[in-house]
Amino acid sequence: MTVRAVVVAPSNVLSTPARKVLDYDDSVLQKVRDLIDTMVESPGCVGLASVQLGLSDQIFVVDVSKHKKTDICHGLIVAINPVIIHQSDPHKVREGCLSVPDFTGSILRYGEISIKAFDVTGCEFTISTNAFEAQAIQHEIDHLNGKVFLDRVLDVADVYPRKRYL
Ligand SMILES: [Zn+2]
Repeated sequence: MTVRAVVVAPSNVLSTPARKVLDYDDSVLQKVRDLIDTMVESPGCVGLASVQLGLSDQIFVVDVSKHKKTDICHGLIVAINPVIIHQSDPHKVREGCLSVPDFTGSILRYGEISIKAFDVTGCEFTISTNAFEAQAIQHEIDHLNGKVFLDRVLDVADVYPRKRYL
């Protein structure tokens, strides 16, 4: 098991779009393992993007199965080169991030999304989901595009100091 340190903002790797994965080799598998190990060992963590481990590859992992806000749940999702192909039902949600440890913020997220991505063997798959799982996936895809949730805050009144550490 390899638990890696999570990069905290501001940081170049967090604000730079990640590179597409071109070769589905053992190094990709190792990065996926590190992402999963670090997510599992971080309390309250429901998703992690490669850039948060200082890796500039388009890979994220999400697992909301232990979270009480879940509606649809696909269990552990490993997504490489993900693209959102459908989004609807925008509404305001509260969000936090391991890379922004001192704040939470209210931002717009889509309540329903579909994504297209590749698994560790390079096979394409699609997932349609809603509610908290959809929010978590949008959060991780933002990371791969060089954004953290604070970049989506429209008003400073929508940023809150974090009181509770899970
Ligand atoms: Zn995050």
